[in-house]
Amino acid sequence: MAMISKSLKKQAWSDFIDAVLWIAHKRPVMRFLIKNAEKRLWKSIVEDEPDSIRPAQELKFYFVRNLLRTTENHLRKGIMDTSVFRKMVKVFVRNVFVEDITQREILMEERDDAVSPCFIVLSPTHKCNLLCPGCYAGSEESRKTSLPYWVANRIIKEKVCLWHSRFTVISGGEPFLWNSEGKDLLDLVKENDDNFFMVYTNGTLINERIAEKMAELGNITPAISVEGFEESTDKRRGKGTFKKVLDTFRRLREVGVPFGISVQATKDNWDEVSSDEFLKFYFDEQGAFYGWLFQYMPIGRSYTLQDMVTPEERLEMFRRNVIAIRRGYNYIDFWNQGVMTDGCLAAGRNGGYMYIDWAGNVMPCVFIPYYKDNIIEIYKRGGTLNDVLYSDYFRKIREWQDEYAYRRPPSQKDNLILPCPIRDHHDVIYSILNESPRISPCDNFARECLHDRDYHLNLIEYDERLRQVIDPVWESEYKRAA
Ligand code: SF4
Repeated sequence: MAMISKSLKKQAWSDFIDAVLWIAHKRPVMRFLIKNAEKRLWKSIVEDEPDSIRPAQELKFYFVRNLLRTTENHLRKGIMDTSVFRKMVKVFVRNVFVEDITQREILMEERDDAVSPCFIVLSPTHKCNLLCPGCYAGSEESRKTSLPYWVANRIIKEKVCLWHSRFTVISGGEPFLWNSEGKDLLDLVKENDDNFFMVYTNGTLINERIAEKMAELGNITPAISVEGFEESTDKRRGKGTFKKVLDTFRRLREVGVPFGISVQATKDNWDEVSSDEFLKFYFDEQGAFYGWLFQYMPIGRSYTLQDMVTPEERLEMFRRNVIAIRRGYNYIDFWNQGVMTDGCLAAGRNGGYMYIDWAGNVMPCVFIPYYKDNIIEIYKRGGTLNDVLYSDYFRKIREWQDEYAYRRPPSQKDNLILPCPIRDHHDVIYSILNESPRISPCDNFARECLHDRDYHLNLIEYDERLRQVIDPVWESEYKRAA
């Protein structure tokens, strides 16, 4: 019965998408449709979910509403190409949002112990043309390790078959430097045109030819790194980088490819990257479609706790970010907005993800640089991605997520503004790593962290201060609304 009602729901969505596609060129009709869709979304995400934390549901509504409004706005301004829009609706909305979510729900009803991640983050190469301090991946020009094309291709096809996952995030190194078996990233995107790809890139290698090819493909969006305005961006990424990035934004606008920004907040730039001026410049003037804000996590090259934002600054960032989302900016503060994702997404949680690096090592999250399994070795033994998904290491992390918040009733969830087992609850990941046999660090920086007692003690102390500052906000403004 559940399967029948799900396929009916799926049919209704498909009809709706067909209608949107058919009238996409009639802009006034589209505005009317969006207004109606917003009303229905508010009802289904907020009003029809009484057994939930209302402020969290409201933020989820604003996220989807912002996607709709930004799409309409960018089509009207001509900075999103109509054919790119049509492909995005087919691949991102229909495949990723409608069909995959429905199929994953059916899968979980059929198997009690099934887990169904929504996406994978794949870093095909360690190589990068920049040399940024604090790079979580420790990438640079001389790094040679890259995934073979056949491995990357198999991972993507396999996650579709096993998990109904057609969303793929590419990270790095610099993904546009990847080349293997005579093929590159855009060949991979073309070969898997049922997937939607979001690519974290420094943006400096996206020339006219690559921008045009992205527009032709239509199932790819770059998330381009900036650190603030010109001075802050050039200070970390190298002189002239800011101007190169603005050139890339222009090229992407000209061919109508939607792009985002990826931003790292440190104690030095947090105020700048969460300011109104920053939002106005990148979203209103430059035409960014979305943005991800990552607070500096002390891993990778020259890691130091000194660069982290303080708990008080983190709270202020949270406040500003909620206001920005409500005002219509799809700029998401990755750690602070655990309220929108029901907590940590690592270790292949339902709707979550896992991370595979250039050597094939599979990690629970980009920010947990420790692995037990290597996908190339698993493939050689005749295994699949499920060998990692159901490993003890990943299960332990999911058990913590379940107990902390994910499977708890709304009124009993722990603080979702502090969702992270490595950053906000460092003792949790430290214990899991110590209890799990055969865990290896992905590089020397991660090895150093693992054996650095001061690092662990200082992070645990930082987490205690976070609790003191942010728990009262969670209790009074979120948990009480459950
Ligand atoms: S481990 Fe931390 S950074 Fe990674 S998904 Fe979970 S909350 Fe986010």
